[in-house]
Amino acid sequence: MDAIERLIAEDPGQRGVAALAIAGDLGRAAASLVKAKRVLLLSGFHIPRAGAAETDGPPGAWDLANALNDLGASVSTATDSVCWRVFEGMGFAPLLPAEEAAARANEFDHVVAIERPGRAADGRSYTMNATPIPDVFPFDDLVAQCRMFGVSTIAIGDGGNEIGMGKASAAALRSIPRGETIASVTKTDHLIVGGTSNWGAWGLIAALSMIARKNLLPSEDAARATLERAVSAGAVDGVTALREPTVDGLTWPVHASMLRRLTDLVAAALADHA
Ligand code: ZN
Ligand code: ZN
Repeated sequence: MDAIERLIAEDPGQRGVAALAIAGDLGRAAASLVKAKRVLLLSGFHIPRAGAAETDGPPGAWDLANALNDLGASVSTATDSVCWRVFEGMGFAPLLPAEEAAARANEFDHVVAIERPGRAADGRSYTMNATPIPDVFPFDDLVAQCRMFGVSTIAIGDGGNEIGMGKASAAALRSIPRGETIASVTKTDHLIVGGTSNWGAWGLIAALSMIARKNLLPSEDAARATLERAVSAGAVDGVTALREPTVDGLTWPVHASMLRRLTDLVAAALADHA
């Protein structure tokens, strides 16, 4: 588990992600999620200057939904109207409008937010460049309610401005660029931090694989096809704002290498206990 945590916190964007991570939360999140029956995934990060959702988030959500289905859980995904087109185009089903998911939050035993804008101290949500995100649905309230009702909440992020980052250290959040403005105050029970949020999702799947004793990670071809499908559905790179199959400005070989190394870690762990 520690090896996975270290690997996914590789920081090609030099955002200081390792300092945001909570040591041990990946294992704790996986230990809880492996027993899930009904899971709600929240994802979709709107990039205002492109008018579209970014490529970080939806592919990770897709792969996590598949892994959880494989473990016998039923999985619903929710996003808001500004990101809807990408999730619908990728084929997420069931896909819930944000308002409906919020009204039905008590039907789930786990909620996982993956690269989802989180409320900052001033009540707004921001991009990494400190641009306010218009028309963002505040899943923060749903997450807070779930925590009150005992629904287990997990968040995956890579920048400090996402739901869940309220759990990161105040000093680490202050040290990210424009941290005083963009850092999210919304907490979850567990926080997973990756160099990209898709890596965080893969890290969580790798941890689930070790606990469940079977590899639940996507193949390299499947993962690449999922990213291509996100782009075909209108997703853009969150850093370049271009409609290309890159994530946070990183080309596919960088992501393929991360997936390969996680797959190797899972294979080694399963072989150890065979
Ligand atoms: Zn992010
Ligand atoms: Zn990202």
